[in-house]
Amino acid sequence: MSFKALSRWIFSALLALGVSATCALTAPADPSFPTLLLSETTGTSQDIGTRMGYLVDGSRAAKLEQVRLPGQAWQTIDRTSPNFGFTDKAYWFRFVINNPTDKPQQRLLELPRPFLDDVRLFHLVAGEVQTRYALGDEQPFAQRVVQHQNFVMPLTLVPGPQEIYLRLASSGTIEAPLRLWEPAAFFEAAAREHLLAGAVLGILVVMIVYNLFVFLATRDVNYLYYIAFVSSYLLFWATLWGYAFAYLWPNEIRWNSEAVPVFIATACISACLFASSFLKLRRFSKTAYWSVQTLAWVNGGLLLTSFYIPYELIIRVNSVMILTVAVVALGIGYWRWWKGARFARFYCLAWTSVLVGVCVLTIGKFGILPANFWTENASQIGALMLVILLSFTLADRINTDRSLRIDAQAIALAHARKARESQRALIESTAQANRELESRVRDRTDELNEALSKLQTVNAELQRLSHTDGLTQVGNRAYFDLALASEHKRASRLKQPLALMLFDIDHFKSVNDTWGHPAGDACLRYLAEYMRQKVQRAGDVLARYGGEEFVVLLINSTLGDALELAEEFREDIAGLAIPIEGQSLRITASFGVASAIPDASTTPATLVADADKALYEAKHGGRNCVRAAAPRLPV
Ligand code: GH3
Ligand code: MG
Ligand code: MG
Repeated sequence: MSFKALSRWIFSALLALGVSATCALTAPADPSFPTLLLSETTGTSQDIGTRMGYLVDGSRAAKLEQVRLPGQAWQTIDRTSPNFGFTDKAYWFRFVINNPTDKPQQRLLELPRPFLDDVRLFHLVAGEVQTRYALGDEQPFAQRVVQHQNFVMPLTLVPGPQEIYLRLASSGTIEAPLRLWEPAAFFEAAAREHLLAGAVLGILVVMIVYNLFVFLATRDVNYLYYIAFVSSYLLFWATLWGYAFAYLWPNEIRWNSEAVPVFIATACISACLFASSFLKLRRFSKTAYWSVQTLAWVNGGLLLTSFYIPYELIIRVNSVMILTVAVVALGIGYWRWWKGARFARFYCLAWTSVLVGVCVLTIGKFGILPANFWTENASQIGALMLVILLSFTLADRINTDRSLRIDAQAIALAHARKARESQRALIESTAQANRELESRVRDRTDELNEALSKLQTVNAELQRLSHTDGLTQVGNRAYFDLALASEHKRASRLKQPLALMLFDIDHFKSVNDTWGHPAGDACLRYLAEYMRQKVQRAGDVLARYGGEEFVVLLINSTLGDALELAEEFREDIAGLAIPIEGQSLRITASFGVASAIPDASTTPATLVADADKALYEAKHGGRNCVRAAAPRLPV
């Protein structure tokens, strides 16, 4: 597509959006113009368009009489809706209407550019002014001849040809898309137009209010961008259709002329922000994010500079921006959808409907599609579809997000349940393991206690055995040594006398020799058993000191006590008749006795040595007697 073709397409698209581009006007001076036949308007309307000529009045001071003078530089117009841009000049238009009937006819001349400052009309029949109007947006709306947002001028057309002169002057753009209506057709069309405008504006207002409530409930910033976009679009249309001027800013003439680029810019900005935020472009793709962001900034720049750039330039840049934003927003939407974002589907549908609408209208303009209500209003229908589908898109995403959240919650719940179950199982198995462990510990403890008690028994037995003389079952030498050491300490502490008695069987060798060794053993056992019954006082100890020699430890006993007891024992032993092999064996024993209150000069060993010495003396003293150890001198 060549650049020229592209720009023509863009302008057509722009026309579809209701923005008229400034036209270049070139025509030969003072041509003749075709006359409009009134019959052409029967039951309908007719554009004056190329049937009129125009004259530029640079001074703005020319009167009707002056412009009617011959030789004026009247020029032709090459399109239906001539646009002369911002200008401080006055523009005159003229055309001829012929009423071929013989009756006067009522017609309405409509100038659908509601923001012109000064509109003057002269209806001339045979060179005389028959009707004269002085209109303009500086007059109150209520004073208009026909209460309509556009300038509508009733004309009574007499039979035959007649001239119409129109003078336009404005601080805004000068446009003259004049149209002649049969009144019935006009009001029918006006009603339709109002209905359509009301429906479009109503839908837009409802979408804004509805989504505002949704925003207040959800605090989702996407709704704000959406509201900004729809509001911009609403104001754009209301301005174009004259409703904004009629109802919103009836006195702001300059603003009204410049509001369209402003609303186009804010619509582009909010569309970019919406696309960026809704499609989550920052995380999706740097390229996508920055292209949309750049577009938003460019439109922000246009918004700020729109008051300083000539209208005819800014409106062209705006038209390129609209298409760029629409194509980029749609392209990225499809990209996002293709990459798996299901929530982008209604978004894509929304922008597609706008582009389809613009294309249908453009094709319609080129005459490829039949001109009807749908093709004529395709861009508005597309835009409405955009607004509705975008709102649907937001709702759809809330739905998608919610179902994702519900799924995630369900998964989380399932996980929590599983975790709880495994925790319960773990607790149960831990308890089971504890129970098993406890039971095993109990078993082991029982076993251990049993082993311990066995061990204690064995130990006790071992101890007993280690302290007991095997033959006689009285204490042995080791036992006696321990008992002597401990009693010696105690006596030393209590300052009590401790006595020791050693006795040895006399001539025992001959017993063995005569009766045999086993009989000697039996004799020893008998004597030990007998002596055990004699030594019963608590604390006293009887032990076999070795061979046929015994020892008796007497606690708290003086030498006298001990000697007395020794004498008693000696007598008893001598009186014993020990039964051996059916006979009675008689024995005697010699006693050595020592006693001392233990102090620094005595040790267990000295006590034993003293007793032993006394025993030795008893043996040498003739045996079967008791001898006392000489008391030791204190050291
Ligand atoms: P005395 O003490 O009166 O001087 O004369 P004795 O014959 O008793 O003298 P001695 O001490 O020399 O002999 C002790 C004897 O005792 C020697 C040993 O045969 C005997 N005898 C020592 N222990 C045992 C024992 O356990 N069983 C038997 N049957 N005889 C033992
Ligand atoms: Mg002996
Ligand atoms: Mg002996």
